[in-house]
Order: sequence, then C-alpha cells, then structure tokens
Amino acid sequence: MRKTAVITGSTSGIGKAVAEALADSGVNIVLNGFGDLDEIQSQRADLEQKYGIQAHYDAADMTKPDEIRTMIETAATTFGSLDILVNNAGIQHVAPIDEFPTNKWDAIIAINLSSAFHTTAAALPHMRSAGWGRIVNIASAHGLVASPFKSAYVAAKHGVLGLTKTTALETAQDGITCNAICPGYVRTPLVEAQIPDTAKARGITEEEVVRDVILAAQPTKSFVGLDELGALAVFLCSDGAKSITGASLPIDGGWTAK
Ligand code: NAD
Repeated sequence: MRKTAVITGSTSGIGKAVAEALADSGVNIVLNGFGDLDEIQSQRADLEQKYGIQAHYDAADMTKPDEIRTMIETAATTFGSLDILVNNAGIQHVAPIDEFPTNKWDAIIAINLSSAFHTTAAALPHMRSAGWGRIVNIASAHGLVASPFKSAYVAAKHGVLGLTKTTALETAQDGITCNAICPGYVRTPLVEAQIPDTAKARGITEEEVVRDVILAAQPTKSFVGLDELGALAVFLCSDGAKSITGASLPIDGGWTAK
C-alpha cells in the first residue's frame, strides 16, 4: 500500500517542493496551506498526473487546533494510514522586541510551533498502530542561532527543536522517527516579504539586505535550493534513515558552522 504524507503549508515554497519530492517517491499527498483555490487545484492535479499518486487538499488553518486535528484524522481515514508528517507551515515578522506586535507574536508561535504539537499529537496513534512513521519538522538555522528583530520566529524555531527531541524520545521504540531540518536562506515568498521590513529595521536598502544580511550569513554566498530540501526530506522518510531520530540537520551553506 502507498504511504500517505501530510505536509502543512505546502501551497508555496519549501512545503510545495517537499510535497513534490515525496510524490515523486510514490507517496500519496495531503496538501495544506492558503492561496488561490484554482492554483491549488492545479498543483494537486499536476502531482496526480505527473507521479501517479493521489493528492488531496485540506484548507485547515494552522492557528486552529480543531481544524489541525481534523485534517490528520481525515487524511488517515481517507487513505487508510498516515505515515509521514511534515510540519512546515510558517510565517515571519521582523521588528524590534519593544515594537513587536502582540498579535504577530501569537500568530508566529501558533503557526510555527503549536501547530506541530497538534499535528504530532493527532498523528502518533496512527503511526504507532502501523509500527512505522516519519515526522519531519521544518525548523530553521534560527532554531540553532538567533538574529536580531526576529524574536518570535527564533523562539518558535528553538521550540520546534525541543519538540522534535521530545517526540523522538517518546517514539524511539515504535518504528517512528522525528527530525528537524534547519534550512538557511531559501528564496521563497517568506524571504522576499521580509526584505523590506529588514531594510527598515536596519536602516539600509533592500539590495544591502540581500548582500549584507541574508547572503552574508551563509559562507557559500548562495541561497539553499528547494530541490535540496525535497531530497533531504525524502531521505529522512526512507528506511535508510531509520536510526536518525531527534536530530537537527542544518542545510544552511555553513551558516551555523561559524
Ligand atoms: P512560504 O511563505 O513560501 O510558505 C509558507 C506556507 O505556509 C504557505 O503554503 C502558506 O499558505 C502556509 N501557511 C501560512 N500560514 C498558515 C496557516 N495559518 N495555516 C496553514 N498554512 C499556512 O514560506 P517558506 O519559505 O516556504 O517557509 C516554509 C517553512 O520553512 C517555514 O516554517 C519557514 O519558517 C521555514 N524556513 C524557511 C526558510 C527560507 O529561507 N525560506 C529558512 C528556514 C526555514
């Protein structure tokens, strides 16, 4: 039987790339995230046609615990199993702590951290009954190190690494692994959107943000590719990675080696 993967926030960027890579490896896909419904339906249909798998879309809002848990139950019921969970949905806001809007703090903690708790809690009984499961949390280099003006994001991503380790320990004898991928900068809408705010917070131009803030952080001086994220996620979901659990894997062009 084909395995089934739920990838949160898979209508754009990294989640979309991971969904495509998992579909290419023969896994049924549940897409999730916001966006234009026609575009999402054509993304879904493309996955089915290109890879011969089944792809569904669930519009669950990652700030709403009931919708999150229902999404997991629906996936397991529809496909007969829920084998792979990729916690990827995330947002960013850039501002100094003393000016950081409370509603942005709450939204970032809910989407980037708490949603992974709710998906994991709902998914584990299904994985345990199958005796096999893979949880991949898309954290960030900001789960390992901080940058100024990203308090909520850095706090949430450090939290994701803690959740990853705890989940790994609680599932270590159940055929389930849980790992975190910690990407450096990947050129997605999330990164594009923070360039103007970072320019404002630091008092520099947008070109200077790309050169002196973003790519300055990465010794390779280049963005991490979406295909690289897909390949790492597929490997972590393979049987070859069954002893990798509780790990935080940087894919950051050497950023956190400094
Ligand atoms: P993106 O903006 O391209 O995609 C974010 C996805 O999350 C979209 O599908 C969006 O619809 C979804 N989403 C946002 N709020 C949601 C909600 N309330 N409910 C459901 N879905 C919601 O961003 P991305 O760069 O692909 O980021 C994906 C993940 O990768 C995030 O967790 C981000 O923190 C992490 N990350 C990104 C980078 C980077 O440089 N792009 C680096 C490190 C980590």
